[in-house]
Amino acid sequence: MSQGLSMLFKTSVKSFFFLVVFTVTAIFLHRFNYLDTSLSIPYDDSHNYSVLPVSAGETTGTLIQKQNEINMHCVLKEVKSFNLCGVGIDFSNGSIESGIDVGRYNRLDIDIAYNTPLNDPKIKVSFRNYHPNYVNDDDLASLKFNTISFNPSNYQGTTTVPLDAFQVENWWIEQYKVDFKDSQIDFSNVSRLEILSHSMPIPGVYNISIKKLILKGEIISENGLFKLIFSIWMAVGALLLLKQHNRLKKISNTDVLTGLYNRRGIQRAIHKIPFKNEVCMFYMDINEFKKINDTYGHVIGDELLIYLSRFIENKLKPFKGSYYLSRFSGDEFIILLRNISQEDMYALARSITSELKNPISVSSYRLSISVSLGIAKIQQTNNSFDILLGRADAAMYHVKNNKLDSFQEFDQSISDNIYFKKRISEFVKEAIIEGDFYLNYMPIYETKSLEMIAFEVLIRASSNNMKGIGPDVFIPIAEEYNLIQSLDLWVIENVFKKIKEDFYFLNTNPTVFCINISSEELKNPFFSENLKQLLDKYEVPPKWIKLELTETSLVKTDQTSIDMLKSVRALGVKLSLDDFGTGYISFNQLVNYPVNTLKIDKSFIDPLGTQNKPSEMLIQAILSMADSYQLDTVAEGVETPQQYLYLLDAGCDAVQGYLFSKPVSWAFVKKLLAEPNAESLKRIAMLP
Ligand code: C2E
Ligand code: CA
Ligand code: CA
Repeated sequence: MSQGLSMLFKTSVKSFFFLVVFTVTAIFLHRFNYLDTSLSIPYDDSHNYSVLPVSAGETTGTLIQKQNEINMHCVLKEVKSFNLCGVGIDFSNGSIESGIDVGRYNRLDIDIAYNTPLNDPKIKVSFRNYHPNYVNDDDLASLKFNTISFNPSNYQGTTTVPLDAFQVENWWIEQYKVDFKDSQIDFSNVSRLEILSHSMPIPGVYNISIKKLILKGEIISENGLFKLIFSIWMAVGALLLLKQHNRLKKISNTDVLTGLYNRRGIQRAIHKIPFKNEVCMFYMDINEFKKINDTYGHVIGDELLIYLSRFIENKLKPFKGSYYLSRFSGDEFIILLRNISQEDMYALARSITSELKNPISVSSYRLSISVSLGIAKIQQTNNSFDILLGRADAAMYHVKNNKLDSFQEFDQSISDNIYFKKRISEFVKEAIIEGDFYLNYMPIYETKSLEMIAFEVLIRASSNNMKGIGPDVFIPIAEEYNLIQSLDLWVIENVFKKIKEDFYFLNTNPTVFCINISSEELKNPFFSENLKQLLDKYEVPPKWIKLELTETSLVKTDQTSIDMLKSVRALGVKLSLDDFGTGYISFNQLVNYPVNTLKIDKSFIDPLGTQNKPSEMLIQAILSMADSYQLDTVAEGVETPQQYLYLLDAGCDAVQGYLFSKPVSWAFVKKLLAEPNAESLKRIAMLP
């Protein structure tokens, strides 16, 4: 951590130093005119502007152009009319519309000698500007006169005239009837510069020699320079902040010892894997790492961890770009792999675990270690990290407990494993006491209209210990460890609480809550009495409640179970046969069960739409039987429009599945009820 920060500090100091040097240099250069720009007229480096003689009246003029001097020699024999003499310098290359921008300069260095018979001979210097507002195209004189007049003999050598001293000539404004807006100084488009005699009232020789004409200015004004410096300071500051932000982010995601992702880093990194991609997690723990620390000391322990990091990185080389590796905590490593094949997964696991059985050289020691590796694999979703962690951890735990010194993938055998189950049962017991569960609600829709008619209530564990362990895993364990009755009651009571809280809302937006109960309840003589008490306590209308029981549980039922179901029905609560089709209830057995609904199991829905004849025939059979017993039908696990369209066609009453909605929170239930979305669902289902 401190290393990264000190590097950051060094960068900041360097940048600050650079900025100060830059600022001082820029101001210095500007002050001492190193940032000046100039245009030497008529002989600029890149241009050679044409010089033309100008004369009017009785004046005759001769223009002599030398290397460094322009000379206009004018002779006036007698004065009869208006006389004029001088030179014009043309910037426009033939088209008066395209002049040069003199506004970029702020002064004119000028050295002129003017010999005349006059006492106070004045020269006029005019920058002639073109603007379509005031120019007649056939009349050159209509170019605006931006002028100064002065007597050159009053100045020794070069005179510097600020461009601010120029003024628009009054006679010109009058003659061309120029509005005030256009009568301001304008240097933006100067097509001509003229140096002319101010007046020629008496005969004689008038000689103008121009030794120097240089326009000068600054590349950037002082104001502009300060603005620029300020912007650069701001930009560098922003850049440093961004760098610091990224650096801190990296530091907070990285394990200092190994340079791998830390716990937080890997939890963030999983989100880089796109949805629906398969994510595989390797969860590896060093067996008896504590012993190594105790025997050889922490320095060797740390070195071993670094060795293992490089070892795993090496093993992962073939999966470059599709893995994330972290030291998750202490001696635990986690690898996430995207879309790895089953063979590659096993080969990698085998190669890591078997190779680590050989002694490892760390410093001068030969260490013998072994590792336990758990593997889990699922499709990427919002909370796949927690699910993977729970399962890979369980698989790893299995390896450790059985001293396998090897690896294991999470599967049914793990959930069936006695150690695992014991651990989970303890967590469940704890969670029941702490109330560490919450409920999700999955919408059920009428097939034709896609209007919401019910919600299935699904339990989730919120405690950290149970992260990644879903009800598919912990419910069977709760049943086995006799915890299910309290769990079922917890769910029922909590749904009822919500209903009571939002009674008025639900009364105007009626729906049905389908609550799963365990088949263990069939043997529970108090179940219907408990249910009744809760219905009364929370004043819940029984017709808002439906209980889901798995079909399997009913296959071998006796009279007590059927009596129990009948007493539930007598309360006005409805019943649904869950996972229908998996339990082999014979059709004529059905008549014995007081149920309202058959919920067709997802395993029969999955193959639909793929021309799978057997499952289609089974669905047809279930639907026609349900029809003859006057039972409602719900299809569960609808994931594709093809499945939906098949069920619509076959006449199934209701559908539920990820195609329409995943399980949602209570707040979302209310939103869905208040703003039904049947129309957008129809588009999703590709209804014609
Ligand atoms: P179930 O009663 O068959 O519930 C349906 C399960 O299938 C739910 O999983 C649901 O999220 C999932 N599902 C529904 N539609 C789709 C779909 O289109 N695609 C996929 N891939 N899955 C879909 P969940 O919530 O994990 O529940 C698993 C089982 O746990 C349930 O199976 C039920 O037997 C049991 N369970 C859940 N909540 C409770 C409860 O509160 N009490 C009891 N006793 N059992 C519960
Ligand atoms: Ca169910
Ligand atoms: Ca099911």
